[in-house]
Amino acid sequence: MLTIQLIPALTDNYIYLLHEPVSGKTAVVDPAEPAPVLAALQQNNWQLDYIFNTHHHGDHVGANLQLKTLTGCKIVGSNADKARIPGIDQTVADGDIVQLGNQTLQVIATPGHTSGHIVYYCAASQALFCGDTLFSLGCGRLFEGSAQQMWQSLQTLKSLPTSTRIYCAHEYTAANGRFALSVEPDNQDLQLRISEVTELRRQNMPTLPSNIGQELASNPFFRPDSLSIRQHIGMEQQTDLTTFTQLRLLKDQFR
Ligand code: ZN
Ligand code: FE
Repeated sequence: MLTIQLIPALTDNYIYLLHEPVSGKTAVVDPAEPAPVLAALQQNNWQLDYIFNTHHHGDHVGANLQLKTLTGCKIVGSNADKARIPGIDQTVADGDIVQLGNQTLQVIATPGHTSGHIVYYCAASQALFCGDTLFSLGCGRLFEGSAQQMWQSLQTLKSLPTSTRIYCAHEYTAANGRFALSVEPDNQDLQLRISEVTELRRQNMPTLPSNIGQELASNPFFRPDSLSIRQHIGMEQQTDLTTFTQLRLLKDQFR
Protein backbone atom coordinates (compact mmCIF):
# COMPACT_ATOMS: atom_id res chain seq x y z
CA MET A 1 0.00 0.00 0.00
CA LEU A 2 1.10 3.53 -0.74
CA THR A 3 1.31 6.02 2.08
CA ILE A 4 -0.22 9.21 0.69
CA GLN A 5 0.25 12.67 2.19
CA LEU A 6 -1.74 15.68 1.08
CA ILE A 7 0.23 18.93 1.00
CA PRO A 8 -1.67 22.21 0.53
CA ALA A 9 0.20 24.66 -1.73
CA LEU A 10 -0.27 28.07 -3.39
CA THR A 11 -3.89 29.26 -3.03
CA ASP A 12 -5.88 26.09 -3.55
CA ASN A 13 -3.50 23.45 -4.96
CA TYR A 14 -2.84 20.05 -3.44
CA ILE A 15 0.49 18.29 -3.91
CA TYR A 16 0.54 14.56 -3.10
CA LEU A 17 3.53 12.85 -1.57
CA LEU A 18 3.59 9.09 -2.23
CA HIS A 19 5.73 6.68 -0.24
CA GLU A 20 6.06 2.93 -0.73
CA PRO A 21 7.23 1.65 2.66
CA VAL A 22 8.72 -1.72 1.61
CA SER A 23 11.25 -0.24 -0.82
CA GLY A 24 11.34 3.21 0.77
CA LYS A 25 10.69 4.82 -2.63
CA THR A 26 9.04 8.24 -2.66
CA ALA A 27 7.36 10.29 -5.38
CA VAL A 28 5.55 13.60 -5.51
CA VAL A 29 2.63 14.34 -7.82
CA ASP A 30 2.46 17.85 -9.34
CA PRO A 31 4.78 19.85 -7.07
CA ALA A 32 3.43 23.40 -7.35
CA GLU A 33 6.16 24.89 -5.14
CA PRO A 34 9.27 23.41 -3.50
CA ALA A 35 9.18 24.56 0.14
CA PRO A 36 6.24 22.50 1.47
CA VAL A 37 7.50 19.39 -0.38
CA LEU A 38 11.00 19.73 1.09
CA ALA A 39 9.53 20.26 4.56
CA ALA A 40 7.37 17.13 4.27
CA LEU A 41 10.31 15.05 2.97
CA GLN A 42 12.47 16.18 5.86
CA GLN A 43 9.75 15.59 8.43
CA ASN A 44 9.32 11.98 7.25
CA ASN A 45 13.01 11.45 6.59
CA TRP A 46 12.22 10.39 3.00
CA GLN A 47 14.41 10.87 -0.11
CA LEU A 48 12.60 12.03 -3.24
CA ASP A 49 12.97 9.53 -6.12
CA TYR A 50 10.39 10.78 -8.63
CA ILE A 51 8.17 13.62 -9.70
CA PHE A 52 5.00 12.47 -11.48
CA ASN A 53 3.44 15.31 -13.49
CA THR A 54 -0.13 15.18 -14.79
CA HIS A 55 0.21 18.17 -17.14
CA HIS A 56 2.34 21.17 -18.01
CA HIS A 57 0.57 24.03 -16.18
CA GLY A 58 2.76 26.15 -13.93
CA ASP A 59 0.85 25.30 -10.76
CA HIS A 60 1.71 21.62 -11.36
CA VAL A 61 5.34 21.74 -12.56
CA GLY A 62 6.47 24.87 -10.67
CA ALA A 63 8.93 23.05 -8.39
CA ASN A 64 10.23 20.52 -10.95
CA LEU A 65 13.68 22.02 -11.56
CA GLN A 66 14.40 23.06 -7.97
CA LEU A 67 13.42 19.65 -6.59
CA LYS A 68 15.44 17.88 -9.29
CA THR A 69 18.53 19.96 -8.49
CA LEU A 70 18.17 19.50 -4.74
CA THR A 71 17.25 15.79 -4.66
CA GLY A 72 18.37 14.28 -7.97
CA CYS A 73 14.86 12.90 -8.54
CA LYS A 74 13.67 11.71 -11.95
CA ILE A 75 10.76 13.52 -13.61
CA VAL A 76 8.01 11.53 -15.31
CA GLY A 77 5.47 13.17 -17.63
CA SER A 78 3.37 12.81 -20.74
CA ASN A 79 5.16 12.11 -24.00
CA ALA A 80 2.80 14.62 -25.63
CA ASP A 81 4.04 17.32 -23.23
CA LYS A 82 7.75 16.55 -23.30
CA ALA A 83 8.56 20.01 -24.68
CA ARG A 84 6.49 21.73 -21.98
CA ILE A 85 7.44 19.87 -18.79
CA PRO A 86 10.59 21.31 -17.21
CA GLY A 87 13.33 18.75 -16.56
CA ILE A 88 11.41 15.76 -17.90
CA ASP A 89 13.47 12.50 -17.84
CA GLN A 90 10.96 9.78 -18.65
CA THR A 91 8.05 10.15 -21.06
CA VAL A 92 4.94 8.01 -20.72
CA ALA A 93 1.73 7.49 -22.68
CA ASP A 94 -1.68 5.88 -22.23
CA GLY A 95 -1.37 2.31 -20.97
CA ASP A 96 2.20 2.63 -19.72
CA ILE A 97 3.04 1.64 -16.18
CA VAL A 98 5.23 3.44 -13.68
CA GLN A 99 6.73 1.55 -10.77
CA LEU A 100 7.11 3.01 -7.27
CA GLY A 101 8.80 0.24 -5.30
CA ASN A 102 6.32 -2.64 -5.23
CA GLN A 103 3.39 -0.47 -6.30
CA THR A 104 2.37 -0.16 -9.94
CA LEU A 105 0.77 2.99 -11.30
CA GLN A 106 -1.03 2.85 -14.60
CA VAL A 107 -0.90 5.89 -16.88
CA ILE A 108 -4.24 6.87 -18.41
CA ALA A 109 -4.40 9.62 -21.05
CA THR A 110 -7.20 12.10 -20.23
CA PRO A 111 -7.06 14.91 -22.81
CA GLY A 112 -9.46 17.83 -22.34
CA HIS A 113 -8.04 20.26 -19.77
CA THR A 114 -4.78 20.10 -21.76
CA SER A 115 -4.04 17.97 -24.82
CA GLY A 116 -1.34 15.95 -23.05
CA HIS A 117 -3.02 15.49 -19.66
CA ILE A 118 -2.45 12.11 -17.99
CA VAL A 119 -3.59 10.60 -14.69
CA TYR A 120 -1.91 7.95 -12.54
CA TYR A 121 -3.99 5.04 -11.24
CA CYS A 122 -2.77 2.61 -8.59
CA ALA A 123 -5.18 -0.35 -8.45
CA ALA A 124 -3.48 -2.03 -5.47
CA SER A 125 -3.77 1.14 -3.37
CA GLN A 126 -7.17 2.06 -4.86
CA ALA A 127 -5.92 5.55 -5.62
CA LEU A 128 -6.24 7.86 -8.62
CA PHE A 129 -4.12 11.00 -9.02
CA CYS A 130 -6.25 12.92 -11.46
CA GLY A 131 -4.62 16.37 -11.68
CA ASP A 132 -7.02 18.85 -13.26
CA THR A 133 -9.17 16.31 -15.14
CA LEU A 134 -11.60 15.33 -12.40
CA PHE A 135 -12.48 17.38 -9.32
CA SER A 136 -14.88 16.55 -6.57
CA LEU A 137 -18.29 17.73 -7.90
CA GLY A 138 -16.59 19.12 -11.01
CA CYS A 139 -14.13 18.65 -13.86
CA GLY A 140 -11.31 20.64 -15.41
CA ARG A 141 -11.83 23.57 -17.73
CA LEU A 142 -11.33 22.94 -21.44
CA PHE A 143 -8.15 24.85 -22.23
CA GLU A 144 -6.76 22.73 -25.05
CA GLY A 145 -9.23 19.93 -25.67
CA SER A 146 -12.82 19.57 -26.87
CA ALA A 147 -15.83 18.70 -24.75
CA GLN A 148 -15.94 15.38 -26.59
CA GLN A 149 -12.36 14.57 -25.53
CA MET A 150 -13.06 15.51 -21.92
CA TRP A 151 -16.26 13.46 -21.89
CA GLN A 152 -14.33 10.47 -23.24
CA SER A 153 -11.66 10.96 -20.57
CA LEU A 154 -14.25 11.14 -17.80
CA GLN A 155 -15.99 8.01 -19.15
CA THR A 156 -12.72 6.12 -18.63
CA LEU A 157 -12.42 7.37 -15.04
CA LYS A 158 -16.11 6.59 -14.37
CA SER A 159 -15.43 2.93 -15.10
CA LEU A 160 -12.81 2.55 -12.34
CA PRO A 161 -13.92 0.69 -9.18
CA THR A 162 -16.29 2.82 -7.09
CA SER A 163 -13.99 2.44 -4.06
CA THR A 164 -11.14 4.23 -5.91
CA ARG A 165 -10.10 7.30 -3.93
CA ILE A 166 -9.58 10.36 -6.08
CA TYR A 167 -6.76 12.77 -5.29
CA CYS A 168 -7.50 15.96 -7.23
CA ALA A 169 -5.02 18.81 -7.62
CA HIS A 170 -7.28 21.60 -6.33
CA GLU A 171 -9.61 22.38 -3.45
CA TYR A 172 -12.54 23.45 -5.63
CA THR A 173 -15.25 21.30 -4.05
CA ALA A 174 -17.32 24.02 -2.33
CA ALA A 175 -17.53 26.24 -5.44
CA ASN A 176 -18.24 23.19 -7.62
CA GLY A 177 -21.00 22.21 -5.20
CA ARG A 178 -22.80 25.53 -5.67
CA PHE A 179 -22.93 24.93 -9.43
CA ALA A 180 -23.89 21.27 -9.01
CA LEU A 181 -26.81 22.23 -6.77
CA SER A 182 -28.02 24.79 -9.34
CA VAL A 183 -28.41 22.06 -11.98
CA GLU A 184 -29.62 19.20 -9.75
CA PRO A 185 -31.14 20.73 -6.59
CA ASP A 186 -33.14 17.61 -5.71
CA ASN A 187 -30.14 15.23 -5.55
CA GLN A 188 -29.96 14.03 -1.93
CA ASP A 189 -26.46 12.58 -2.24
CA LEU A 190 -25.31 15.96 -3.50
CA GLN A 191 -27.07 17.80 -0.67
CA LEU A 192 -25.39 15.49 1.84
CA ARG A 193 -21.96 15.92 0.26
CA ILE A 194 -22.35 19.71 0.29
CA SER A 195 -23.16 19.82 4.00
CA GLU A 196 -20.14 17.59 4.68
CA VAL A 197 -17.95 19.87 2.52
CA THR A 198 -19.25 23.02 4.21
CA GLU A 199 -18.36 21.59 7.63
CA LEU A 200 -14.89 20.44 6.48
CA ARG A 201 -14.09 23.84 4.98
CA ARG A 202 -15.38 25.62 8.10
CA GLN A 203 -12.65 23.69 9.96
CA ASN A 204 -10.15 24.46 7.15
CA MET A 205 -9.91 20.73 6.36
CA PRO A 206 -9.46 19.23 2.87
CA THR A 207 -12.53 17.75 1.14
CA LEU A 208 -10.28 15.22 -0.61
CA PRO A 209 -9.80 12.45 -1.34
CA SER A 210 -13.27 11.80 -2.64
CA ASN A 211 -14.03 8.50 -4.36
CA ILE A 212 -15.50 7.37 -7.67
CA GLY A 213 -18.72 6.08 -6.07
CA GLN A 214 -19.39 9.39 -4.35
CA GLU A 215 -18.74 11.30 -7.59
CA LEU A 216 -21.03 8.98 -9.58
CA ALA A 217 -23.80 9.92 -7.17
CA SER A 218 -23.19 13.65 -6.98
CA ASN A 219 -20.88 15.10 -9.66
CA PRO A 220 -22.98 16.61 -12.50
CA PHE A 221 -20.16 16.00 -15.02
CA PHE A 222 -20.49 12.27 -14.32
CA ARG A 223 -24.30 12.52 -14.56
CA PRO A 224 -25.40 13.98 -17.91
CA ASP A 225 -27.87 11.05 -18.06
CA SER A 226 -29.71 12.38 -14.98
CA LEU A 227 -33.30 13.28 -15.92
CA SER A 228 -33.32 15.96 -13.23
CA ILE A 229 -30.21 17.66 -14.65
CA ARG A 230 -31.60 17.46 -18.17
CA GLN A 231 -34.88 19.03 -17.09
CA HIS A 232 -33.13 21.81 -15.19
CA ILE A 233 -30.97 22.83 -18.16
CA GLY A 234 -33.45 22.09 -20.96
CA MET A 235 -31.64 19.07 -22.45
CA GLU A 236 -34.35 16.37 -22.17
CA GLN A 237 -34.02 15.30 -25.80
CA GLN A 238 -30.24 15.51 -26.10
CA THR A 239 -27.41 13.00 -25.95
CA ASP A 240 -25.12 12.60 -22.93
CA LEU A 241 -22.33 14.35 -24.85
CA THR A 242 -24.49 17.37 -25.76
CA THR A 243 -25.74 17.58 -22.17
CA PHE A 244 -22.16 17.33 -20.85
CA THR A 245 -21.04 20.06 -23.29
CA GLN A 246 -23.83 22.36 -22.10
CA LEU A 247 -22.99 21.65 -18.43
CA ARG A 248 -19.34 22.62 -19.05
CA LEU A 249 -20.47 25.84 -20.79
CA LEU A 250 -22.87 26.73 -17.97
CA LYS A 251 -20.18 26.09 -15.37
CA ASP A 252 -17.79 28.46 -17.20
CA GLN A 253 -20.44 31.20 -16.96
CA PHE A 254 -21.59 30.39 -13.40
CA ARG A 255 -21.07 33.01 -10.69
ZN1 ZN B 1 -4.16 22.89 -14.98
FE1 FE C 1 -4.15 23.38 -11.87
